[in-house]
Amino acid sequence: MSQLLLVVNCGSSSLKFSLFDSHTFEEVADGLAESLNDASSRVRGQIRSKTISLQQENLNHSDALKWILQQLAQTWDLKKELTGIGHRVVHGGEAFKTSTLINASVLAQIEQCIPLAPLHNPANLMGITLLQTLLPDTPQVAVFDTAFHQTMPEHAYVYAVPYSLYRDHGVRRYGFHGSSHRYISQQAAKLFEKETSALNIICAHLGNGASVCAIKQGQSVDTSMGLTPLEGLVMGTRSGDIDPGLFDFLLSKGFAPDEINTTLNKKSGLLGISELSNDMRTLVDEAASGHAQAALAIEVFCFRLAKYIAAMMVSLDTLDALVFTGGIGENAALVREKTMSHLTLLGFSLDTTRNQQAPRGKAATIHGDNSHPVWIIPTSEEHMIALDTQTLISTQAA
Ligand code: ADP
Repeated sequence: MSQLLLVVNCGSSSLKFSLFDSHTFEEVADGLAESLNDASSRVRGQIRSKTISLQQENLNHSDALKWILQQLAQTWDLKKELTGIGHRVVHGGEAFKTSTLINASVLAQIEQCIPLAPLHNPANLMGITLLQTLLPDTPQVAVFDTAFHQTMPEHAYVYAVPYSLYRDHGVRRYGFHGSSHRYISQQAAKLFEKETSALNIICAHLGNGASVCAIKQGQSVDTSMGLTPLEGLVMGTRSGDIDPGLFDFLLSKGFAPDEINTTLNKKSGLLGISELSNDMRTLVDEAASGHAQAALAIEVFCFRLAKYIAAMMVSLDTLDALVFTGGIGENAALVREKTMSHLTLLGFSLDTTRNQQAPRGKAATIHGDNSHPVWIIPTSEEHMIALDTQTLISTQAA
């Protein structure tokens, strides 16, 4: 009989799951339910090497989850073998500095964080309560995107706005992608044979969302995302940093506030500049065939990223490595090359052959001689959530 951990990431119209063997931490099943509550709703996944799929109109989260559990139950006795469930929760505000076992008071605190993440936290809560109903005896754990960054010093998280906005409304920088940045710091510590508490790195997590993090002695001391995941780097469809004066300007041009919000979150970033795609792979291919705006989107992305990497150095005294991770960080050699070309004054150089030939899915060094170390390290937020879940349920059992 195996022991299993289920990792769930519940979005407003999607639900991702991964099932891990809790001894080997091998992923034995995973999948995605998308377009929930929509005519095109569907679920796809993999159980060991078997593909599962369901196409049905207007599936809701509960239908999808029940169906997924039914599929998993054909291979495993979930009531006996599933020892814990870990949930990705986007916003833990200042209430959560680490992952935590879920109980009624934790649920209430996650609910209190809804104003900080009005789209994400309600969906995360729905996933938790659904699974509490479907598997009432299985312990559940919440792993927060924000928790890792709670170690940031005040000077890194306080915005230069009236202090009452922080005091009364919690307006401050929180940072996100904490599970990925923390996973990378643990992987880097293993690779460099150091304690995490002695590790100083800059981590660039570059996926559809993107952020950099300065990690000093294993703790987050600065990051590029802020109150919301909109601040910082250029992302797939998010603008990252803009002049806040843009709001007033667009209001004066007749934009409604929610239109501005949609523009900055869904129509900007790589998609906005290229007017083509939010997908870096498409942009790299199109730029190579002469698409000028695709090329421009890549240039702006890399320049902003280099500026932020430089900014992260302010928080560190020494640097064990700059790490690239996430779909773009791990796979887009062009992005790494262009970004590094802006950082020569800070003591970085790239070995272009190693950068081009870096093996997929594996850690590799790509720096040139006399450079600060530069690494590619694959990330896995799901692994981090599974590990935390395992740790917390075993302390509960002890
Ligand atoms: P998410 O944030 O949704 O988890 P990922 O970490 O999977 O996203 O990253 C998705 C991004 O990675 C997309 O922009 C995709 O184009 C990019 N990407 C994946 N493979 C490559 C590649 N070989 N070359 C360039 N970009 C890539």
